[in-house]
Amino acid sequence: MQETLKILKELQALDQELNEKRYGRQKLAGEQAEIHSELTRIQAMVDQLKANVAELDAQRRDLSQDLIIEEGNVTKAEGRLPTIKTQREYVAVLKEVDTAKKMNKDIQDKIAALDLQIANLNNDRQEKEDELAQIKVEVKERQNEIAAALDTTDKILGEGDGRRDDFLARIPASVRRRYEILRDKRAGVAVVEARQETCYGCNMNLPPQLFNRLYTTDEILTCPHCNRMLYIDMTQL
Ligand SMILES: [Zn+2]
Repeated sequence: MQETLKILKELQALDQELNEKRYGRQKLAGEQAEIHSELTRIQAMVDQLKANVAELDAQRRDLSQDLIIEEGNVTKAEGRLPTIKTQREYVAVLKEVDTAKKMNKDIQDKIAALDLQIANLNNDRQEKEDELAQIKVEVKERQNEIAAALDTTDKILGEGDGRRDDFLARIPASVRRRYEILRDKRAGVAVVEARQETCYGCNMNLPPQLFNRLYTTDEILTCPHCNRMLYIDMTQL
């Protein structure tokens, strides 16, 4: 077999190996991204619930302030009662106390409703936080595996690209172009064996004259059916 064809054959095997590695790498990176987006999604839910609780807490603080003021008003009005001289004024102050007490009751009801809402939100938040913590534990091992596998794959790809460059440097540029075009067109197989007057790339019969020339020529001959570059495996003779 010609030297160039030998190198092409090795280059092709390497390209196929590197392609598989790249495909595997893509899948791992995809899985890594999926895990990340799932964790981010749950974290966002936790953050949203925390923000909702904080907002309700602020409302509750405002209402507590209001309640203190209203309670002060009740105390003040009730304090005035013993000093009142007229029936009319007495009725007016009692009405004031009554109104302030009703306000208090309103505020207390609102606070109680908020407390319930806050408790529910905190339950939801806790549930999501637990879920997040559990998923984190579950995926931790897989994340480490993926990170290690990506590391290894990147090393292999780096070394492979180096070997590839060495092969390419030993192939004439025109052959290299033909190889690359064929490889892309023919699902990664540009160089194939010819055996028993058959192309092992497309399984079609080769003209006997062409097949016989493969033993003697220095040219790179191609299959007339699939255009792949042909070689003879001399060890099969
Ligand atoms: Zn063929």
